[in-house]
Amino acid sequence: MDPITAMLEKVLAEVASDGSGETAAYIPELAEADPDLLAFGLVGPRGRVFTAGDESAPFTIQSMSKPFVLALALELHGRDEVFRRVGAEPSGEPFNAISLEARTGRPANPMVNAGAIATTALIPGADVDERTGRIVGMMSKFAGRSLWIDEAVYASESATGDRNRALAHLLKSYEIIQGSVTDAVETYFRQCSVLVTVRDLAVMAATLAFGGRNPVTRDQVVSERVARDVTSIMASCGMYDFSGEWMLRVGLPAKSGVSGGVIAVAPSQFGVAAFSPRLDPHGNSVRASRIVEILSDRFGMHLLEPHESIAAPGIGVEQSPDGVLVRLGGELGFAGAERVLSMLREVAAAAPESTLITVDVGELARSHPAAVTVLRTEIENLAPRFRLQEEPARVSDAAGA
Ligand code: GLN
Repeated sequence: MDPITAMLEKVLAEVASDGSGETAAYIPELAEADPDLLAFGLVGPRGRVFTAGDESAPFTIQSMSKPFVLALALELHGRDEVFRRVGAEPSGEPFNAISLEARTGRPANPMVNAGAIATTALIPGADVDERTGRIVGMMSKFAGRSLWIDEAVYASESATGDRNRALAHLLKSYEIIQGSVTDAVETYFRQCSVLVTVRDLAVMAATLAFGGRNPVTRDQVVSERVARDVTSIMASCGMYDFSGEWMLRVGLPAKSGVSGGVIAVAPSQFGVAAFSPRLDPHGNSVRASRIVEILSDRFGMHLLEPHESIAAPGIGVEQSPDGVLVRLGGELGFAGAERVLSMLREVAAAAPESTLITVDVGELARSHPAAVTVLRTEIENLAPRFRLQEEPARVSDAAGA
């Protein structure tokens, strides 16, 4: 067994004996789930998938569908149009709360049911099937395989979904939803009933973690900006009225579902998913939450953990036929540019007055516009002694508008 899978197995073993919590009772089909199922998946930057436990057990995606439908709405309509109809603030309330803004009726955020139904209503289509087809098509790209729906869970949720229907009617009365309430809410029930495994969810989370590019299929599923927006909302609102404490303890943008799944995003590092059907009073899986918490803690994944590399681009200094060549590699962020500037001053001080110093940025994998601007300005100020060679390979679309 490879060492990463062995670590996942170890984490699973640590939580296995925790039998606390209850399966979701309000959707009869979910209440029937085998409560002992337990699975864990992790996908890294090169698209390697690591899984442990009941990795091939299928279950419905439930509220973990919400980030992906938000991604589709943002791709189709842009940020302003979407957030005109749904807020971006944690509600501090349970997932099914009737938390609508006083005058406008805008739901608090797209991760609670009211906000998710409003988001789903933004997906165009002539009928429920066409809208559902669009949504499932998008989720399938995130997962890297064709997903489909568990009809029994859909029927069960639709039969007992009066609270969500009531929410949808309220949204319609505030004109947050336009068109058919029935279409919006049935589409929402269908999106919640999409069948996935922990492996699928880990790949889906990884696609968010790697700027909207599925690391397994290499498909750019959504733009880097959309992936960042969705991840931001997960960070503040993904765990309902536990979101603040989750950020404190785990520090990863995440989303739970009442089927017992949790997905988490460690940006540029890993997509994570865990599954176990018994839920805590917030509607978050007891053991899946604990798995992600242990992972974050043990593997140093908290978002606010300090990182050296963002401020440390690769810097190589060599003699060249016409003077000194300074090669930059890796990522050049703003803090990294500050480091490069002070290093250039040292190189200049150490070399004879007449030496030409060339700064080669052609091998940078990623650079941020502000970092390039300060570097270019400094080099222009120091010309003709300094010279910039080649434009940066790629300028981030998330960093600048
Ligand atoms: N389909 C569920 C509902 O609307 C989703 C809720 C959840 O997973 N938290 O009630």
